[in-house]
Amino acid sequence: MAYILIIEDEPAMQLGLKDNLEMEGYRVDLASDGESGLNKIKANAYDLILLDVMLPKLSGFDVCKNARSAGIKTPIVLLTARGEEIDKVLGLELGADDYITKPFGVRELLARIKAILRRSQVAEKGDAGEPVVIGRVAVNFNSFLVTQDGAEIKLSHKEVEILAYLYKHRNAVVSRYDLLENVWGYEEQITTRTVDNFIARLRQKVETNPNSPRIILTVHGSGYKMVL
Ligand code: CA
Repeated sequence: MAYILIIEDEPAMQLGLKDNLEMEGYRVDLASDGESGLNKIKANAYDLILLDVMLPKLSGFDVCKNARSAGIKTPIVLLTARGEEIDKVLGLELGADDYITKPFGVRELLARIKAILRRSQVAEKGDAGEPVVIGRVAVNFNSFLVTQDGAEIKLSHKEVEILAYLYKHRNAVVSRYDLLENVWGYEEQITTRTVDNFIARLRQKVETNPNSPRIILTVHGSGYKMVL
């Protein structure tokens, strides 16, 4: 099970996060200030880091920046307070993978964590620079570089994430709700119709004949299945 570091100085928040994550089966480690958090990041192989922004000794932004410049690629989710809108953007620029605004629901947080862990697990496969071939396209899930019939093409971040999720669960049925939960993670008002539109666009790129798909199949009444 994934190993998660929580860097949070408010004891009640820290304990609440720890309990909820452990209940989900995650292994949890704790730090209560930025400096010890950064030391832990450098000393242990975590799968994900929950990082509060307002911390004693070293801010969450500095922890993030320092970890990235040390070459640490572990996914980082920033915990921001309301009213830190500008800081969120800054956080993503500093190398954070996602952010969540306090107060947040446990379900939402868990969905984000799951989505990021899945993404990073798939990314590891493409890490060796080996693109994954899906029909007419070859995708590097780490660099997001996509080629079609050998030439580089542009796919949006979401499109690549959908391909990554389908690929990880290839040959199994993935429901529209699985995609909504794991790719969008409750963060936006997205309907299953949007999912269908994304799939249609992906078929244009992946399939030899998008009207008669062979790779991203529709499973009626269930969802989609990537056949590889
Ligand atoms: Ca704090």
